[in-house]
Amino acid sequence: MNTDKDALEAVQWKTRYLDQLEESERKEKQWHAADDLLRKTVSRLTLAADGIDDLLDRQLRDLRNAIRDRASTANLRSLVEDMSSTLVRLDKGRKKHEQQQDQRRPLLELLEALKLPENSKRRIKKLKKQLSSADGGDSKAVIEAFATLIGDACAASADKEAHDASPGLLARLFQPKERPQPNHSAQTPVPAPEIPPSAPALVLAPMTPPPAHAESISAALPEIPHQETLDTVREILIQLLERLSLPDELVDRVEAIRDVIDHVSEGDSWDTVLEQIADLIQTIRAQTQQERQGITTFLQQLSERLQEVDRQLQGSEQHYDEAMAAGERLDTAVKDEMNGMGTRVRDARDLDTLKQVVQVHIDTVLEHMQSHQNTEQQRYSQAKQQIAHMGDRLKDLERETSSLRERIHEEHNQAMTDALTGIPNRLAYEDRLQQEIARWKRFGTPLVLVMWDVDLFKRINDEFGHKAGDKVLRTIAQVLGRGVRETDFVARYGGEEFVQLMTGSSLVDCLPVADKLRATVEATGFHFRQNAVTITASCGLADFRKGDTAEQCFERADQALYRAKQLGRNRCEVAD
Ligand code: GH3
Ligand code: MG
Ligand code: MG
Repeated sequence: MNTDKDALEAVQWKTRYLDQLEESERKEKQWHAADDLLRKTVSRLTLAADGIDDLLDRQLRDLRNAIRDRASTANLRSLVEDMSSTLVRLDKGRKKHEQQQDQRRPLLELLEALKLPENSKRRIKKLKKQLSSADGGDSKAVIEAFATLIGDACAASADKEAHDASPGLLARLFQPKERPQPNHSAQTPVPAPEIPPSAPALVLAPMTPPPAHAESISAALPEIPHQETLDTVREILIQLLERLSLPDELVDRVEAIRDVIDHVSEGDSWDTVLEQIADLIQTIRAQTQQERQGITTFLQQLSERLQEVDRQLQGSEQHYDEAMAAGERLDTAVKDEMNGMGTRVRDARDLDTLKQVVQVHIDTVLEHMQSHQNTEQQRYSQAKQQIAHMGDRLKDLERETSSLRERIHEEHNQAMTDALTGIPNRLAYEDRLQQEIARWKRFGTPLVLVMWDVDLFKRINDEFGHKAGDKVLRTIAQVLGRGVRETDFVARYGGEEFVQLMTGSSLVDCLPVADKLRATVEATGFHFRQNAVTITASCGLADFRKGDTAEQCFERADQALYRAKQLGRNRCEVAD
């Protein structure tokens, strides 16, 4: 009985085992099919992500190979893990790009609103591309390009050749504050402004109509985004304003715009600020063009006056020729009379006839002389009148020329002076640098370059506002300017950076001089809203060495300055 039962159970177990085996084989097949499908799908998917990033491309290729070679799960897992960190990095980059786009959008909008002249089209396109590209470079470069474009557009001349050949005095009024390109500036030293050679070079590009800011700006502008973006946009716009070296009379307007920028808060729109900046730039353009028009008109007047003087001179030459001819005529007439008289005197037989002959000839000679004298008198008074007239004209000319000279001199000074601090600006520095380098090369006298940077200046602006920041810059400019020897030179290089050239002393001797200046800055008391604030500056010194370009020396001074900052600020460091 039991044996039968056991046999039955054994059969049942066997059937079940065989069923299970069949089921498991089926499942394994299914699993292999799914695995194949999954590997193929992953392989294909990886192709879709190709070309985004070099490292990711490499990782995807490795993953495809591993899938193809049926690598172990552990192997695949490690490849996927490697890839995850790349993906996180790419995602961060994308977010950063989006944020950068938000920050730069106002500049794009401003560019649209300005409606710059047609001949800037290519540069505008390039700048727009730069503004919206993923690797649009650092903001500094973008702002520089923007400011230069505006500056050039303001000073645009219709005479393209003349414009290409020389940026012109007015174009140089707008000085982008990029680092110097010494090689370039060594080849093209800044020329002293001259009266433009001829009127046509001053013909103006047609003025584009003022922008319809309200529509063009507000239509596309975003609301103010979150705080970080807000700060960056604010910084970008302020830097843009700082880079437009403005005429004195516009300084108040810029102040007002900066105030508005300072007070923009989350949720506001940028419309008003951008409209004001666009208006300001339009004003500069209009002023620049008026200025050029003024010079053109003056040159036309000058050339007319000169033509008049030339005519008068030709007239007096004619007078002179006529006077000479009249003199010769008189001479001939008198000689003729004398000859006639001689013959008649010889032929005279008696005293009466002789007297008569002499009388007649003397009368005739006297008549000739009288008439000659009359004509000469007339000629003389005409010439006198003409000379008086010419004298007046020349005086006018002198007056106008000297007023033009003064104006050009003033403009030259203005172009070389920093509007905020009143000390020489970067353009003047580059000019002076070329002179000093030439002297250093010729006479071998030491030349030391000192790069100054105010410490933690951003904090002053943030805590006390831009006006306070400006006051600090003015004071520091004065301290540095007053503290240097007469042969030395200090300029505002840009922002809160100053540059100093020291001649005739070695690097070792310059260090204590710079350090004294540093101590004077530190000791200068600043007060904001009843708070006493100590402000310090750091500097880096470098001397010109044999074979140096300006760029190399500048770079060393900049590195020394960087070291001074790293070592705790409020100190002077000498380049290695
Ligand atoms: P560090 O000690 O490292 O130099 O710190 P910092 O804060 O001075 O350096 P940073 O270069 O980050 O900041 C410089 C700030 O100077 C940023 C800019 O807003 C401000 N700035 C530049 N030009 C002017 C200006 O003409 N007026 C005012 N008020 N601020 C300016
Ligand atoms: Mg700085
Ligand atoms: Mg600084």
